[in-house]
Amino acid sequence: MAQESSSEEAGFRQVDPTPQSGSGQSLQVALNPAAAKVLRRTALVTVVLPFLGMLMAVSLLWQRWVYPIDLAVLAVMYALSIIGIGVGFHRLVTHRAFETYPPIKAVLCILGSMAAEGPVLFWASIHRRHHAASDREGDPHSPHLHGATFLEAMRGAWHAHVGWMFVSNTSQLGRTIPDLLQDRVLLRISRYYLVWAGLGILLPGVVEAMIVPSVGGFARGLLWGGFVRIFMVHHVSWSINSICHLFGTRPYSNSDHSTNNILMALLSFGEGWHNNHHAFPSSALHGLRWWQIDFSGYIIVLLRTVGLAWNVKVPTRTQQNSRYANQRPTV
Ligand SMILES: [Zn+2]
Ligand SMILES: [Zn+2]
Repeated sequence: MAQESSSEEAGFRQVDPTPQSGSGQSLQVALNPAAAKVLRRTALVTVVLPFLGMLMAVSLLWQRWVYPIDLAVLAVMYALSIIGIGVGFHRLVTHRAFETYPPIKAVLCILGSMAAEGPVLFWASIHRRHHAASDREGDPHSPHLHGATFLEAMRGAWHAHVGWMFVSNTSQLGRTIPDLLQDRVLLRISRYYLVWAGLGILLPGVVEAMIVPSVGGFARGLLWGGFVRIFMVHHVSWSINSICHLFGTRPYSNSDHSTNNILMALLSFGEGWHNNHHAFPSSALHGLRWWQIDFSGYIIVLLRTVGLAWNVKVPTRTQQNSRYANQRPTV
């Protein structure tokens, strides 16, 4: 009992006993089919444009036309976007791992929207579908449903990383998020998604132009803080879907192929402890051992410490032990 309450003694709530999924929810709310088509076209643009920006950045690097301020703007924008996705879209909205005040929720979701991964409600609905059927039929981006040959496995990895956005079924996505569709903050932020995504490109340009007042400064801000940053955030986020269902360790006995991958955990500020996350989807912390660095989790603990977050869910030691499989690392 003393062990069980270890995290509760520190003031945390224990995680929900069953993984959160939308499979049993019956509200018949669908995304508008026309909106789904727009989302797919938007996905094409948001995949191709940052890629072209990255090519341009590589050519500038080759000519050594890059300044420390470019990299500083890139780093700050990268951190803000990753926090927006990890703390905002994923832990706060999709899994309701903690609660906070509406203005903080709005800021986190606007930062997440700047990552150009789709409107927050779309992101949450796809991700809940992933948890409801992880690595089974119905999972929008599993790498494991394409066959066993080398080529089929490569096709699966591509599908999990990028390809799913162009082929996945986006109908009835609203079914997975009836609770979120009641949230006026989320509805409003989702509706103006393109504004926030555009702001995420414009803002670093304006900031760099204020520091280096010139057209060149503005353009480099757009390139490094906008397109290159989106390219990097995209591939780190998508690697959680692909790499973290293929390579890493599996300490918890989940029914899927989710893994913990320390490199992805560092790059994604904690999201790479993905096997932990599939074991305890509603946990605000993804790093469950002291050495599992989880910057997004630390931010939530900090918010809680200063009174800006509450009902922060963390699995008790007993809950963790009941799922621990002590399996050998998979490759
Ligand atoms: Zn997963
Ligand atoms: Zn999740």
